[in-house]
Amino acid sequence: MSSSKKLHFVIQKHYTKTHHYDLRLQQDDLLLSWAVPKGPSLDPSVKRLAMRTPDHSLEYRHFEGVIPPESYGAGVVMIWDDGTYLPEIEISRGERKIIDDLEEADSIITSSLEQGELKFTLWGKRLKGSFALIKTKNFGPKNAWLLIKHKDAYSCNDYNIDVLADSVSSGRTMEEIIRLNG
Ligand code: MN
Repeated sequence: MSSSKKLHFVIQKHYTKTHHYDLRLQQDDLLLSWAVPKGPSLDPSVKRLAMRTPDHSLEYRHFEGVIPPESYGAGVVMIWDDGTYLPEIEISRGERKIIDDLEEADSIITSSLEQGELKFTLWGKRLKGSFALIKTKNFGPKNAWLLIKHKDAYSCNDYNIDVLADSVSSGRTMEEIIRLNG
């Protein structure tokens, strides 16, 4: 599977009114987006709240820097992880298949969003392996989903996101991004 046959993803650490991580998955020329307050985890026993937020343009995946006051998302953005991804389908209980035909992938993403359950594999610098985003039905606001890591070769039982405090793009910390833009 060559990287040209995959879709892009980015996770941007974002300090604004709240601190969170924005998970963004490419569909066509857009980035489907979820704000994850505690950030992703590689621990399969952890379910992370992920609030669906407005789509962004595909080019936004390259953005790292300071968003001025009065603008949408005012604050600081760091590229915490990036890479490629593809959607998956479940072919039997617990057994998943990666969809590497991009036309099929696009329709799987659309139907998965409608059904409120999107499974995917990430090939990031920090995050790898299979994940699911599952829309909550019985609790939380309408845009609430849960981000869950499937058990695989990349899952682990204790994952501490806070030790990974620098940008995969520039190597800068949040403080350094602020200082260099200030
Ligand atoms: Mn954000």
